[in-house]
Amino acid sequence: MDNTAAKAVTTGTDGASAEHVKCLILGSGPAGYTAAIYAARANLKPIMYTGMQMGGQLTTTTEVDNFPGYPEGVDGTAMMGDLEKQATRFGTDVRFGMATAVDFSGKVKKVTIDNEKVISADAVILATGATAKYLGLESEEHFKGNGVSACATCDGFFFKDKVVAVVGGGDTAAEEATYLAGLCKKVYMIVRRDELRASKAMQKRVFNTKNIEMLWKHQTKELKGDKVVESVDLYKNKGEADETIVNIPIDGFFLAIGHTPNSDIFKDYLDTDETGYVKTIPGTTKTNVPGVFAAGDLQDHVYRQAVTAAGTGCMAALDAERYLGELE
Ligand code: NDP
Repeated sequence: MDNTAAKAVTTGTDGASAEHVKCLILGSGPAGYTAAIYAARANLKPIMYTGMQMGGQLTTTTEVDNFPGYPEGVDGTAMMGDLEKQATRFGTDVRFGMATAVDFSGKVKKVTIDNEKVISADAVILATGATAKYLGLESEEHFKGNGVSACATCDGFFFKDKVVAVVGGGDTAAEEATYLAGLCKKVYMIVRRDELRASKAMQKRVFNTKNIEMLWKHQTKELKGDKVVESVDLYKNKGEADETIVNIPIDGFFLAIGHTPNSDIFKDYLDTDETGYVKTIPGTTKTNVPGVFAAGDLQDHVYRQAVTAAGTGCMAALDAERYLGELE
């Protein structure tokens, strides 16, 4: 087996040297690395650009307990380190860099890295993920990983039998609150309006769960605590004549106010849904542009798990391999 690092061809168009590669992968979460493992093993000699957050969202969590094959759980950062080793073992050229622009208009796809270098590719796998939205509070940033999380299925277990709060009123918040209610003593839902945005079915589940308490028309002012979150100050009826501030003791604070798919630079070429998720042909990772494939959270607002991202990363590499095979 050829284990040498992927070698790109210098084409030297318009005086500047441009690099050409068969298969370019953008993003270094479970989707990107799994695509890289499969693409490298298929001898596509992939180059991967990691993005600014090497390893993706899992590096912002502590322990990953729900990825099959780790009976004792695994540290998120360590797991992504292992995936990187596996991808490079088969010859993926992993590079630190951020895609800042793309041109998918031609048969050969062009991607600009860090606003300067242009790399062209016959097939591109997009695995740039999504970013959880945060409220933007200083205290929230301070307690990230110490009581503040944006993923109940990743971190909920650490709050077993404790009291937590979930911010948001959409389907994600409702889902996370009911999930946490199965683990925690009590779950507060902090909702800024007097109704939920979540579907009626999810609302029913929330209202039928005894240990969820709704805090309608509440907004977060600040988190309090020494080393870890101990309580939260909330505005009640913010901006109204009867505005008050209440303090609620909690151990965990979960953000569920939505995710932003990292698709901005692709939008001129790729079909996205109204929230920006890249659309793929059902049952495949093919986008509307032949030769461009999307995997992981960039194209999935429903499951958003490491294992499902890895699954679609594998699919993307297989789809790319078939596409490249047909080109030849
Ligand atoms: P949504 O955008 O649907 O909901 C976000 C929620 O967060 C809203 O209740 C919103 O309040 C609230 N919010 C936003 N910003 C703030 C803020 N600064 N302070 C306080 N609250 C805030 O995001 P979701 O992640 O819930 O869902 C995204 C998409 O994914 C939806 O289409 C959803 O249906 C889908 N989804 C489907 C699932 C399923 O089918 N099983 C599971 C999860 C998601 P407000 O309502 O006032 O705007």
